[in-house]
Amino acid sequence: MRYSFKIGSVWGIPIELHITFMLLMGAVFILFYPALYLFLLIVFLFVFVVFHELAHSVVARHYGIKVRKIVLYPIGGVSEIEEVPEKPSIEWRLAIAGPLMSFAVGAILLSLNQLISVKAPVETLAPSIATAGNLILDLAVLNFILGAFNLIPAFPMDGGRVFRALLAERMKFSDATKYAAYIGRLFGIAMVVVGVFYDFWLILIGVFIYIGASEEAEQTIVSTNLATVRVKDVMQTEAGAVQPETTLAEAVEVMFKARYHDALVEKEGIFQGVVSWDEIMKIKPEDRANLTVGQMPLKCIRVLQDESVLEAYKVMNREKIDLLPAFDREAPDKVVGVLTSEGMAKAYEKAKSLR
Ligand SMILES: [Zn+2]
Repeated sequence: MRYSFKIGSVWGIPIELHITFMLLMGAVFILFYPALYLFLLIVFLFVFVVFHELAHSVVARHYGIKVRKIVLYPIGGVSEIEEVPEKPSIEWRLAIAGPLMSFAVGAILLSLNQLISVKAPVETLAPSIATAGNLILDLAVLNFILGAFNLIPAFPMDGGRVFRALLAERMKFSDATKYAAYIGRLFGIAMVVVGVFYDFWLILIGVFIYIGASEEAEQTIVSTNLATVRVKDVMQTEAGAVQPETTLAEAVEVMFKARYHDALVEKEGIFQGVVSWDEIMKIKPEDRANLTVGQMPLKCIRVLQDESVLEAYKVMNREKIDLLPAFDREAPDKVVGVLTSEGMAKAYEKAKSLR
């Protein structure tokens, strides 16, 4: 099931609303109608959360890291980036950019409020202006809270990332993640306990932090372990190949039989490239018997069998293919096996069991 929905995009980065955010907005709208002030406050706050996330994105892009999307949750946003920065010095810069943006927005709103209050004293002018003044002041405070809250040293908060980066400068990245996640979970539990006595909202936030810390640890550990699995451990050594003179109709049959959407192309045992299902599907069915594989654009992609599955995964993802030929360093013309989505699934299971 999908839990977040796209509402737009900025600089090509999709912005999505998480279902819990929408439920919160709905609840506030119903509970406080017709007093729309709180609803208005949340809508504006949400815009500033986007500012906060875009600050992370700008820094990520500066270091050449692709931002997949921004997802907005009730207690803040998450920028999903392509890969975790390998250098701790980049990670903490990326993490701190968001809270700094929130503090900056808070400061600007505070001075704006000062300006408006001077020009329009609350007591003497229309109530609507007084409300506007309050809105700006409340938003300023909320931005300060947003910035400070995100500095809590627990995943999935920015402070958790800063904390991990500091640890990672002294130990292995996966160990740093483990410890940071551990602290995050403790924080979550502590918040729930305090919440039971003081405030219901703390319980919700505590649960959110606990789940976030666990998920982050899981993902990082799996992808770190994925980097230790070699292509040759999970590749298939048997792979059907087609010839450049094979017709497209026949190639589709080969793909059906092999249950993979792409096929190897070989000429006298020498690798020529990969012909993809997507390319063949662009040709009308009635023309497929007259065209040959050799007339199609072939993808000359490859991976070495002793490279990591994580590297292979990046290539498969980028090229949108299901089948990646593997080679030996010594014989660069001969395919020794293929990595398929089935092999990737095997690798994933292996990575999960290594801990
Ligand atoms: Zn942030």
